[in-house]
Amino acid sequence: SNSHSALIIIGTGMAGIGLARALRRQGDTRTITLISADSGDDYSKPLLSTGFAKRLTPDQLAQRSARDVAEELNAELITHTQVVHLHVDNQRIVLSNGHQLHYDDLVLATGAAPRTPFSVPENVAKRCFTVNDLDEYRRFYDALAAAPARVAIVGAGLVGCEFANDLYAGGHQVTLIAPERAPLPRLLPEPLGQALGNAFQAAGIQLALGRTLQTLTLNPDNALSLHLDNGDHYVADIALLATGLTPRSELAETAGLAVSRSGIMVDRQLRTSQPHIFALGDVACVEDVNAMYVQPLQACIKALTSTLTGKPTSVSFGAWPVIVKTPLLPVVAYPPATTPARWQIEGEGNEMTAIAENKDGRLIGFALTGGCVRRKVELSRTAPALLG
Ligand code: FAD
Repeated sequence: SNSHSALIIIGTGMAGIGLARALRRQGDTRTITLISADSGDDYSKPLLSTGFAKRLTPDQLAQRSARDVAEELNAELITHTQVVHLHVDNQRIVLSNGHQLHYDDLVLATGAAPRTPFSVPENVAKRCFTVNDLDEYRRFYDALAAAPARVAIVGAGLVGCEFANDLYAGGHQVTLIAPERAPLPRLLPEPLGQALGNAFQAAGIQLALGRTLQTLTLNPDNALSLHLDNGDHYVADIALLATGLTPRSELAETAGLAVSRSGIMVDRQLRTSQPHIFALGDVACVEDVNAMYVQPLQACIKALTSTLTGKPTSVSFGAWPVIVKTPLLPVVAYPPATTPARWQIEGEGNEMTAIAENKDGRLIGFALTGGCVRRKVELSRTAPALLG
Protein backbone atom coordinates (compact mmCIF):
# COMPACT_ATOMS: atom_id res chain seq x y z
CA SER A 1 0.00 0.00 0.00
CA ASN A 2 1.02 3.63 -0.43
CA SER A 3 4.05 2.68 -2.49
CA HIS A 4 3.98 5.93 -4.45
CA SER A 5 3.09 8.21 -1.64
CA ALA A 6 5.79 10.50 -0.23
CA LEU A 7 6.36 10.59 3.51
CA ILE A 8 8.60 13.30 4.91
CA ILE A 9 9.88 13.01 8.48
CA ILE A 10 11.50 16.09 10.02
CA GLY A 11 14.03 14.96 12.65
CA THR A 12 16.38 12.00 12.97
CA GLY A 13 16.25 11.46 16.71
CA MET A 14 14.77 8.38 18.29
CA ALA A 15 11.32 9.45 17.06
CA GLY A 16 12.15 10.13 13.39
CA ILE A 17 14.49 7.21 12.76
CA GLY A 18 12.38 4.93 14.96
CA LEU A 19 9.27 5.62 12.92
CA ALA A 20 11.01 5.05 9.58
CA ARG A 21 12.47 1.79 10.88
CA ALA A 22 9.10 0.59 12.20
CA LEU A 23 7.40 1.37 8.87
CA ARG A 24 10.00 -0.64 6.93
CA ARG A 25 9.63 -3.53 9.40
CA GLN A 26 5.91 -3.52 8.54
CA GLY A 27 6.88 -3.88 4.89
CA ASP A 28 5.86 -0.36 3.99
CA THR A 29 7.45 0.66 0.69
CA ARG A 30 6.49 4.32 0.31
CA THR A 31 9.15 6.94 -0.40
CA ILE A 32 10.61 8.21 2.87
CA THR A 33 12.71 11.36 3.22
CA LEU A 34 14.24 12.24 6.59
CA ILE A 35 15.55 15.74 7.20
CA SER A 36 17.82 16.69 10.06
CA ALA A 37 19.39 19.89 11.32
CA ASP A 38 22.15 17.71 12.81
CA SER A 39 24.52 15.03 11.48
CA GLY A 40 21.74 12.46 11.15
CA ASP A 41 23.86 9.80 12.84
CA ASP A 42 21.78 7.24 14.72
CA TYR A 43 22.52 7.29 18.44
CA SER A 44 20.69 6.66 21.68
CA LYS A 45 20.21 9.99 23.44
CA PRO A 46 19.89 8.45 26.95
CA LEU A 47 23.46 7.15 26.58
CA LEU A 48 24.83 10.71 26.28
CA SER A 49 24.74 11.04 30.06
CA THR A 50 26.53 7.72 30.64
CA GLY A 51 29.47 8.13 28.25
CA PHE A 52 32.19 9.51 30.55
CA ALA A 53 31.92 6.73 33.14
CA LYS A 54 32.22 4.13 30.38
CA ARG A 55 34.99 6.13 28.64
CA LEU A 56 33.00 6.11 25.39
CA THR A 57 34.15 8.35 22.57
CA PRO A 58 31.47 10.19 20.57
CA ASP A 59 32.12 7.83 17.66
CA GLN A 60 31.41 4.85 19.90
CA LEU A 61 28.07 6.44 20.83
CA ALA A 62 27.06 6.75 17.17
CA GLN A 63 25.48 3.40 16.46
CA ARG A 64 25.24 4.07 12.73
CA SER A 65 26.29 6.85 10.42
CA ALA A 66 23.62 8.80 8.55
CA ARG A 67 24.73 7.06 5.35
CA ASP A 68 24.21 3.60 6.89
CA VAL A 69 20.82 4.65 8.24
CA ALA A 70 19.73 5.80 4.77
CA GLU A 71 20.83 2.51 3.28
CA GLU A 72 19.19 0.40 5.99
CA LEU A 73 15.91 2.29 5.65
CA ASN A 74 16.00 2.69 1.90
CA ALA A 75 15.30 6.34 2.57
CA GLU A 76 16.73 9.65 1.57
CA LEU A 77 18.48 11.43 4.43
CA ILE A 78 19.11 15.16 4.16
CA THR A 79 21.48 16.20 6.95
CA HIS A 80 22.76 19.50 8.39
CA THR A 81 19.69 21.12 6.86
CA GLN A 82 16.87 22.98 8.60
CA VAL A 83 13.29 22.96 7.52
CA VAL A 84 12.48 26.68 7.62
CA HIS A 85 8.88 26.81 6.39
CA LEU A 86 5.87 24.61 6.23
CA HIS A 87 3.10 25.44 3.72
CA VAL A 88 0.04 23.44 4.59
CA ASP A 89 -2.07 24.65 1.64
CA ASN A 90 0.06 23.06 -1.07
CA GLN A 91 1.72 20.45 1.20
CA ARG A 92 5.27 21.68 0.78
CA ILE A 93 8.23 22.34 3.03
CA VAL A 94 11.09 24.76 2.41
CA LEU A 95 14.65 23.87 3.41
CA SER A 96 17.43 26.20 4.55
CA ASN A 97 19.19 25.57 1.22
CA GLY A 98 16.16 26.97 -0.60
CA HIS A 99 14.89 23.61 -1.90
CA GLN A 100 11.20 22.79 -1.65
CA LEU A 101 9.73 19.35 -1.17
CA HIS A 102 6.19 18.04 -1.54
CA TYR A 103 4.73 15.64 1.03
CA ASP A 104 1.70 13.42 1.00
CA ASP A 105 2.16 12.83 4.73
CA LEU A 106 4.42 14.81 7.06
CA VAL A 107 5.71 13.82 10.49
CA LEU A 108 7.13 16.46 12.80
CA ALA A 109 9.72 14.81 15.05
CA THR A 110 11.76 17.91 15.86
CA GLY A 111 12.35 17.12 19.53
CA ALA A 112 13.05 19.69 22.21
CA ALA A 113 15.75 22.34 22.49
CA PRO A 114 17.76 23.35 25.56
CA ARG A 115 16.31 26.40 27.24
CA THR A 116 18.62 28.83 29.06
CA PRO A 117 16.78 31.19 31.41
CA PHE A 118 19.67 33.70 31.48
CA SER A 119 21.82 35.23 28.78
CA VAL A 120 25.37 33.97 28.37
CA PRO A 121 27.91 36.74 27.60
CA GLU A 122 29.62 36.21 24.25
CA ASN A 123 33.13 36.00 25.66
CA VAL A 124 32.21 33.09 27.95
CA ALA A 125 29.90 31.32 25.51
CA LYS A 126 32.73 29.13 24.20
CA ARG A 127 33.12 27.69 27.73
CA CYS A 128 29.40 26.98 28.15
CA PHE A 129 27.83 23.84 26.76
CA THR A 130 24.50 22.14 26.38
CA VAL A 131 24.44 18.42 25.56
CA ASN A 132 21.20 17.55 23.86
CA ASP A 133 22.43 15.68 20.79
CA LEU A 134 25.47 13.82 19.55
CA ASP A 135 26.97 16.86 17.79
CA GLU A 136 26.87 18.80 21.07
CA TYR A 137 28.28 15.81 22.91
CA ARG A 138 31.22 15.82 20.47
CA ARG A 139 32.03 19.45 21.28
CA PHE A 140 31.62 18.89 25.02
CA TYR A 141 33.78 15.77 24.88
CA ASP A 142 36.58 17.62 23.06
CA ALA A 143 36.47 20.45 25.59
CA LEU A 144 36.93 17.89 28.38
CA ALA A 145 39.76 15.98 26.72
CA ALA A 146 42.18 17.22 29.37
CA ALA A 147 40.87 15.42 32.46
CA PRO A 148 40.42 16.19 35.24
CA ALA A 149 38.57 19.38 34.52
CA ARG A 150 36.48 21.53 36.84
CA VAL A 151 32.91 21.39 35.53
CA ALA A 152 30.09 23.54 36.86
CA ILE A 153 26.67 22.09 36.06
CA VAL A 154 23.78 24.53 36.19
CA GLY A 155 20.45 22.77 36.79
CA ALA A 156 19.66 19.78 39.02
CA GLY A 157 16.97 18.06 36.95
CA LEU A 158 17.39 14.66 35.29
CA VAL A 159 19.98 15.83 32.78
CA GLY A 160 22.02 17.87 35.30
CA CYS A 161 22.05 15.06 37.89
CA GLU A 162 22.91 12.32 35.40
CA PHE A 163 25.80 14.36 34.02
CA ALA A 164 26.97 15.22 37.56
CA ASN A 165 27.20 11.53 38.36
CA ASP A 166 28.72 10.62 35.00
CA LEU A 167 31.37 13.36 34.92
CA TYR A 168 32.33 12.53 38.51
CA ALA A 169 32.72 8.88 37.45
CA GLY A 170 34.83 10.06 34.53
CA GLY A 171 37.29 11.70 36.93
CA HIS A 172 36.15 15.32 36.70
CA GLN A 173 35.57 17.78 39.54
CA VAL A 174 31.88 18.65 39.58
CA THR A 175 29.90 21.48 41.15
CA LEU A 176 26.12 21.31 40.85
CA ILE A 177 24.31 24.67 41.00
CA ALA A 178 20.51 25.03 41.09
CA PRO A 179 17.87 27.28 42.64
CA GLU A 180 15.96 24.40 44.26
CA ARG A 181 16.95 23.12 47.69
CA ALA A 182 17.40 19.51 46.58
CA PRO A 183 18.19 17.61 43.34
CA LEU A 184 15.45 16.33 40.98
CA PRO A 185 12.77 18.75 42.26
CA ARG A 186 10.19 17.72 39.67
CA LEU A 187 10.70 13.99 40.21
CA LEU A 188 11.32 13.62 43.95
CA PRO A 189 9.81 14.95 47.18
CA GLU A 190 12.50 16.88 49.03
CA PRO A 191 13.68 14.20 51.53
CA LEU A 192 14.50 11.83 48.63
CA GLY A 193 16.15 14.63 46.70
CA GLN A 194 18.26 15.28 49.83
CA ALA A 195 19.27 11.61 49.87
CA LEU A 196 20.61 11.95 46.32
CA GLY A 197 22.31 15.23 47.27
CA ASN A 198 23.97 13.51 50.25
CA ALA A 199 25.20 10.67 48.03
CA PHE A 200 26.64 13.22 45.59
CA GLN A 201 28.36 15.14 48.39
CA ALA A 202 29.78 11.98 49.96
CA ALA A 203 31.40 11.23 46.59
CA GLY A 204 32.97 14.69 46.45
CA ILE A 205 30.51 16.44 44.13
CA GLN A 206 30.18 20.01 45.37
CA LEU A 207 26.59 21.24 45.80
CA ALA A 208 25.44 24.85 45.52
CA LEU A 209 21.69 24.34 45.89
CA GLY A 210 19.11 26.95 46.75
CA ARG A 211 21.29 29.35 44.77
CA THR A 212 20.67 31.27 41.59
CA LEU A 213 23.42 32.02 39.11
CA GLN A 214 23.83 35.80 38.80
CA THR A 215 26.73 36.31 36.41
CA LEU A 216 29.27 34.35 34.42
CA THR A 217 32.66 35.97 33.83
CA LEU A 218 36.00 34.96 32.36
CA ASN A 219 39.00 35.37 34.71
CA PRO A 220 42.38 36.73 33.51
CA ASP A 221 43.66 33.10 33.61
CA ASN A 222 40.80 32.06 31.27
CA ALA A 223 38.85 30.18 33.95
CA LEU A 224 35.13 30.72 34.36
CA SER A 225 33.75 32.43 37.43
CA LEU A 226 30.17 31.67 38.40
CA HIS A 227 28.76 34.26 40.79
CA LEU A 228 25.74 33.24 42.85
CA ASP A 229 23.00 35.31 44.45
CA ASN A 230 24.42 34.90 47.97
CA GLY A 231 27.79 36.35 46.97
CA ASP A 232 29.53 32.97 46.68
CA HIS A 233 31.48 32.24 43.58
CA TYR A 234 32.82 29.09 41.98
CA VAL A 235 35.65 28.74 39.50
CA ALA A 236 35.41 26.17 36.71
CA ASP A 237 37.04 25.31 33.40
CA ILE A 238 33.72 24.81 31.67
CA ALA A 239 30.01 25.01 32.45
CA LEU A 240 27.28 22.60 31.41
CA LEU A 241 23.87 24.27 31.21
CA ALA A 242 21.11 21.79 32.01
CA THR A 243 18.31 24.24 32.66
CA GLY A 244 15.47 22.52 30.84
CA LEU A 245 14.06 21.72 27.42
CA THR A 246 11.37 23.36 25.31
CA PRO A 247 9.54 21.54 22.50
CA ARG A 248 10.71 22.78 19.08
CA SER A 249 7.27 23.72 17.82
CA GLU A 250 7.98 27.05 16.01
CA LEU A 251 7.72 25.53 12.54
CA ALA A 252 4.28 24.13 13.33
CA GLU A 253 3.16 27.25 15.14
CA THR A 254 4.11 29.56 12.27
CA ALA A 255 2.24 27.28 9.87
CA GLY A 256 -0.87 27.71 12.00
CA LEU A 257 -0.98 24.28 13.66
CA ALA A 258 -2.40 24.08 17.18
CA VAL A 259 0.46 24.33 19.66
CA SER A 260 0.59 24.69 23.44
CA ARG A 261 3.44 25.36 25.85
CA SER A 262 3.88 21.60 26.08
CA GLY A 263 4.36 21.12 22.35
CA ILE A 264 2.46 20.47 19.15
CA MET A 265 -1.02 19.35 20.10
CA VAL A 266 -1.96 15.93 18.73
CA ASP A 267 -4.79 13.50 19.33
CA ARG A 268 -4.25 9.89 20.28
CA GLN A 269 -3.64 9.02 16.65
CA LEU A 270 -0.79 11.56 16.70
CA ARG A 271 -2.70 13.82 14.28
CA THR A 272 -2.05 17.54 14.48
CA SER A 273 -4.78 20.08 13.76
CA GLN A 274 -3.88 19.85 10.03
CA PRO A 275 -4.71 16.86 7.82
CA HIS A 276 -1.71 14.73 6.71
CA ILE A 277 0.52 16.16 9.43
CA PHE A 278 1.48 14.12 12.50
CA ALA A 279 3.84 14.76 15.39
CA LEU A 280 5.63 12.51 17.86
CA GLY A 281 8.49 12.44 20.35
CA ASP A 282 9.59 15.33 22.59
CA VAL A 283 7.84 17.90 20.36
CA ALA A 284 4.40 16.32 20.63
CA CYS A 285 1.80 16.78 23.34
CA VAL A 286 -0.66 13.86 23.23
CA GLU A 287 -3.90 15.15 24.71
CA ASP A 288 -2.37 16.83 27.78
CA VAL A 289 0.74 14.70 28.10
CA ASN A 290 4.21 15.39 26.81
CA ALA A 291 6.28 12.99 28.86
CA MET A 292 9.60 13.49 27.01
CA TYR A 293 10.72 9.94 27.74
CA VAL A 294 11.55 6.93 25.62
CA GLN A 295 8.71 4.60 26.62
CA PRO A 296 5.84 6.91 25.59
CA LEU A 297 7.77 7.78 22.43
CA GLN A 298 8.06 4.08 21.51
CA ALA A 299 4.33 3.60 22.09
CA CYS A 300 3.64 6.54 19.77
CA ILE A 301 5.89 5.07 17.06
CA LYS A 302 3.96 1.82 17.26
CA ALA A 303 0.55 3.49 17.04
CA LEU A 304 1.56 5.84 14.21
CA THR A 305 3.10 2.97 12.23
CA SER A 306 -0.25 1.16 12.38
CA THR A 307 -2.17 4.30 11.47
CA LEU A 308 0.06 5.07 8.49
CA THR A 309 -0.20 1.50 7.23
CA GLY A 310 -3.98 1.53 7.19
CA LYS A 311 -5.05 0.54 10.73
CA PRO A 312 -5.94 3.75 12.57
CA THR A 313 -4.65 3.19 16.11
CA SER A 314 -4.89 5.25 19.29
CA VAL A 315 -1.96 5.37 21.68
CA SER A 316 -2.15 4.88 25.43
CA PHE A 317 0.59 5.11 28.06
CA GLY A 318 0.92 2.88 31.12
CA ALA A 319 2.24 3.83 34.56
CA TRP A 320 5.82 4.00 33.33
CA PRO A 321 8.29 5.26 35.93
CA VAL A 322 11.44 7.19 35.08
CA ILE A 323 14.70 5.45 35.87
CA VAL A 324 17.33 8.05 36.71
CA LYS A 325 20.86 7.00 35.77
CA THR A 326 22.66 8.06 38.96
CA PRO A 327 24.66 4.98 40.07
CA LEU A 328 25.83 6.86 43.20
CA LEU A 329 22.23 6.45 44.35
CA PRO A 330 19.73 4.67 42.09
CA VAL A 331 16.48 6.62 41.71
CA VAL A 332 13.13 5.64 40.20
CA ALA A 333 10.24 8.07 40.07
CA TYR A 334 6.68 8.19 38.81
CA PRO A 335 5.68 11.76 39.65
CA PRO A 336 1.97 12.34 40.31
CA ALA A 337 0.08 14.15 37.51
CA THR A 338 -1.65 16.40 40.06
CA THR A 339 -0.48 17.81 43.39
CA PRO A 340 -0.90 15.01 45.93
CA ALA A 341 -2.85 15.48 49.17
CA ARG A 342 0.13 13.95 50.98
CA TRP A 343 3.41 12.13 50.55
CA GLN A 344 3.93 9.05 52.74
CA ILE A 345 7.67 8.82 53.22
CA GLU A 346 9.42 5.82 54.77
CA GLY A 347 13.00 4.72 55.27
CA GLU A 348 16.22 6.48 56.07
CA GLY A 349 19.63 7.22 54.62
CA ASN A 350 19.84 5.95 51.08
CA GLU A 351 16.86 3.62 51.29
CA MET A 352 13.69 5.64 50.88
CA THR A 353 10.17 5.02 49.61
CA ALA A 354 7.76 7.88 49.00
CA ILE A 355 4.15 7.37 48.02
CA ALA A 356 1.99 10.20 46.73
CA GLU A 357 -1.67 9.88 47.67
CA ASN A 358 -4.76 11.79 46.67
CA LYS A 359 -7.33 12.85 49.25
CA ASP A 360 -9.02 9.43 49.10
CA GLY A 361 -5.75 7.73 49.99
CA ARG A 362 -5.22 6.36 46.53
CA LEU A 363 -1.64 6.01 45.21
CA ILE A 364 -1.12 8.52 42.39
CA GLY A 365 2.68 8.48 42.14
CA PHE A 366 5.82 7.31 43.88
CA ALA A 367 9.55 7.80 44.25
CA LEU A 368 12.21 5.31 45.33
CA THR A 369 15.91 5.46 46.14
CA GLY A 370 18.69 2.93 46.74
CA GLY A 371 17.60 -0.68 47.19
CA CYS A 372 13.94 0.44 47.34
CA VAL A 373 13.96 0.88 43.54
CA ARG A 374 13.11 -2.85 43.51
CA ARG A 375 9.53 -1.89 44.41
CA LYS A 376 8.97 -0.15 41.07
CA VAL A 377 7.13 -3.03 39.41
CA GLU A 378 4.81 -3.62 42.36
CA LEU A 379 3.99 0.08 42.78
CA SER A 380 3.54 0.69 39.03
CA ARG A 381 0.80 -1.93 39.06
CA THR A 382 -1.34 0.14 41.41
CA ALA A 383 -0.52 3.55 39.93
CA PRO A 384 -2.86 5.28 37.46
CA ALA A 385 -1.71 5.22 33.82
CA LEU A 386 0.08 8.23 32.35
CA LEU A 387 -2.49 8.26 29.54
CA GLY A 388 -5.02 5.49 30.11
P1 FAD B 1 15.49 14.60 19.33
O1 FAD B 1 16.39 13.46 19.65
O2 FAD B 1 15.77 15.91 19.98
O3 FAD B 1 15.49 14.76 17.76
C1 FAD B 1 15.03 15.91 17.12
C2 FAD B 1 15.52 15.93 15.69
O4 FAD B 1 14.88 16.98 14.97
C3 FAD B 1 17.00 16.16 15.52
O5 FAD B 1 17.47 15.31 14.51
C4 FAD B 1 17.07 17.62 15.08
O6 FAD B 1 18.21 17.91 14.31
C5 FAD B 1 15.83 17.70 14.23
N1 FAD B 1 15.26 19.04 13.98
C6 FAD B 1 14.71 19.91 14.85
N2 FAD B 1 14.24 21.01 14.25
C7 FAD B 1 14.49 20.84 12.92
C8 FAD B 1 14.23 21.61 11.75
N3 FAD B 1 13.59 22.79 11.80
N4 FAD B 1 14.65 21.13 10.56
C9 FAD B 1 15.27 19.94 10.48
N5 FAD B 1 15.52 19.16 11.55
C10 FAD B 1 15.14 19.60 12.75
N6 FAD B 1 14.51 9.18 28.33
C11 FAD B 1 14.31 7.98 28.93
O7 FAD B 1 13.23 7.41 28.78
N7 FAD B 1 15.28 7.38 29.66
C12 FAD B 1 16.50 7.96 29.86
O8 FAD B 1 17.35 7.39 30.55
C13 FAD B 1 16.75 9.24 29.25
N8 FAD B 1 17.96 9.83 29.39
C14 FAD B 1 18.17 11.03 28.78
C15 FAD B 1 19.43 11.64 28.93
C16 FAD B 1 19.68 12.87 28.36
C17 FAD B 1 21.04 13.51 28.52
C18 FAD B 1 18.66 13.53 27.61
C19 FAD B 1 18.93 14.88 26.98
C20 FAD B 1 17.42 12.93 27.45
C21 FAD B 1 17.17 11.67 28.03
N9 FAD B 1 15.93 11.04 27.88
C22 FAD B 1 15.71 9.82 28.48
C23 FAD B 1 14.87 11.59 27.00
C24 FAD B 1 14.92 10.95 25.61
O9 FAD B 1 16.26 10.82 25.21
C25 FAD B 1 14.11 11.80 24.61
O10 FAD B 1 12.77 11.74 25.02
C26 FAD B 1 14.19 11.31 23.16
O11 FAD B 1 15.52 11.04 22.77
C27 FAD B 1 13.55 12.36 22.22
O12 FAD B 1 13.72 12.00 20.88
P2 FAD B 1 13.14 12.87 19.69
O13 FAD B 1 13.43 12.11 18.45
O14 FAD B 1 11.75 13.27 19.98
O15 FAD B 1 13.97 14.24 19.72
